[in-house]
Amino acid sequence: MTDTHSHLHLLPEPQEALQRASGLRAILTLGTDVASSASATRYASRFANVYAAVGLHPTEASLFDSEVAASLRELAQQPRVRASGETGIDYYWDAASREEQLRVLDFQLELANDNDLAMVFHVRSQKNRDDAERDLQSWLEANKPQRFVLHAFGGDMALAESATALGGYVSFAGNLTYKKNRRLREIAGLLPLERLLVETDSPYLPPEPMRGKKNEPLFVRYTLEALANSRGLPFEEMERISDENARRLFRW
Ligand SMILES: [Zn+2]
Repeated sequence: MTDTHSHLHLLPEPQEALQRASGLRAILTLGTDVASSASATRYASRFANVYAAVGLHPTEASLFDSEVAASLRELAQQPRVRASGETGIDYYWDAASREEQLRVLDFQLELANDNDLAMVFHVRSQKNRDDAERDLQSWLEANKPQRFVLHAFGGDMALAESATALGGYVSFAGNLTYKKNRRLREIAGLLPLERLLVETDSPYLPPEPMRGKKNEPLFVRYTLEALANSRGLPFEEMERISDENARRLFRW
């Protein structure tokens, strides 16, 4: 199993959670600012199955300046860094302007190109809106990043189709297991099998049997199980395919 999206620095007991997850093929831990990106590289240097992503989360985009850029450029050169992110567009929290977020997206693309990294995208609009999805879609179509994933996919089919047509991946999180998300499971059944990934987004988004608890990398098994069911595949087969997809994207 592979957890393609965790924030280890936010777990209450990261060491213990990593011990429980020592059987996982790989875990990508993502920074959301300079300090957490530095922390991600430290986890990656200390644990054999952990890799790091460095970036400035869209809700932190107003912090971007030349000093932040220089720090992230330096961190991106660390040996076990495999992705530029978490980046993307977030209009849900309204924490940074559209212009600030697009400027950081452009910077994260430069970071990816300069260091041969995949990109990890977050996207979130306010309720009943899709302006973040449309802006990210336009940006992807204009910039065509080499390797990328839409993380914690929420079900915007137009964005998923555009992303997979560009060679991108779609990653499902714990919300795939929620009873009400029947439509999301249908969509998971329709997308190209060779583009599907699973993740926890831990400590957020705990999957169905663990709701109300803090999420951790090992719980990715429940999302993988839901994905296998959506595809009508045995668990082990879906595990093999999603492990291979993640390996191809992140090159570990
Ligand atoms: Zn995240």
